[in-house]
Amino acid sequence: MADKKLNGTVIVTYRCNARCNMCNRYKAPSRPEEELSLDTIRKLPRMYFTNITGGEPFIRTDLRDIVRELYKKSDRIVISTNGFFTDRIIDLCEEFPEVGIRVSIEGLEDTNNEIRGLPNGFQRGYQTLKKLVEMKHPDVGFGMTVQDKNAKDLVPLYKLSDELGMEFATASLHNSFYFVEAKNVIRDRPMVAKNFEELVNDLLKSNSPKKWFRAYFNHGLINYIYGQPRLLPCDMAFDTFFIDPYGDVMPCNGTKDKEVMGNLNRQSWDELWNSPEAEAVRAKVRHCDRNCWMIGSVSPAMHKYIWRPAAWVIKHKAKSLLGMKAYDMHELKVVRDYEEGRVTKEQLDACSTCDMCAQVNDGLSAASKADAHVYETHEAL
Ligand code: SF4
Ligand code: SF4
Repeated sequence: MADKKLNGTVIVTYRCNARCNMCNRYKAPSRPEEELSLDTIRKLPRMYFTNITGGEPFIRTDLRDIVRELYKKSDRIVISTNGFFTDRIIDLCEEFPEVGIRVSIEGLEDTNNEIRGLPNGFQRGYQTLKKLVEMKHPDVGFGMTVQDKNAKDLVPLYKLSDELGMEFATASLHNSFYFVEAKNVIRDRPMVAKNFEELVNDLLKSNSPKKWFRAYFNHGLINYIYGQPRLLPCDMAFDTFFIDPYGDVMPCNGTKDKEVMGNLNRQSWDELWNSPEAEAVRAKVRHCDRNCWMIGSVSPAMHKYIWRPAAWVIKHKAKSLLGMKAYDMHELKVVRDYEEGRVTKEQLDACSTCDMCAQVNDGLSAASKADAHVYETHEAL
């Protein structure tokens, strides 16, 4: 393999201390003894970007050793966390001042605590963010997964992040083996989309080109919520990969069942990346119809097909500068079709990945499955 840098997501654990309503991963944790070792992490390729995630990654008390190893091969590292383990996060940021931290906050206080199922979760997450700001940690942000319950908090949370000078990352509900969930679906699409529309307009008003491209991403989320084909191709497994706690290398976290290109505990990187199994997964990705719109698969596509978001940004920013309403969700045909009755709710539901009868494959090893009741992670609370 040529020494091309990749975009990698490292799932260091499936253990989680939260109880989110859109994700059952906490019920299907990995067995600690089986989770990625430093020896396996040393075998990863060079990366221009690495996302460390879970479960809750800060449950691993050796996370700083993992980060230290990853910095030997990655230009930039961002850790996604629910922000509960404030002291661990602050300690890590003291050692690695360049590491990015994204704390997922699912709404203002009551909504967040209801969705996340963590006692005092909002206060813990918010305290973590405030401490990071106080220590002038340069790369801090919020992440929010928008659903019917918290859509009204989307713009207020964006404004809060803006006041604190932080990044604001958004997502919406997905179904996959990774979330151990198949029943997630947005019920009131116009209401949720309206909140995204307001966010898009606020982002376009800013002076930050980064925020204008975020506006495009959120426009793509409205498109996703209405079950439409992705605005950009999905090239996962070509220059992007995920690795799970067992060393299995996968294209992404959006597939219904776990798709495996190879195993880094047993193989070398070059061997697995160039294997027939990896090629078979790439062929599946080429025909994948799940139409996910998560930052992990969209960000590489936005860089690769930059002219498409750039054309959208130029058009909408120009409107904003002319004092016009920059963005209207009705520019998506499906929004008009639904409003005017040419498409029904049932048809849109059928376009989503929600499947009330699906058997969810949680991607656990047999040993983790057998131990799942033991590692329900109460110990982490
Ligand atoms: S969404 Fe994240 S924090 Fe919530 S249960 Fe799933 S892994 Fe844990
Ligand atoms: S659309 Fe892309 S990210 Fe989603 S499941 Fe398919 S290959 Fe994975």
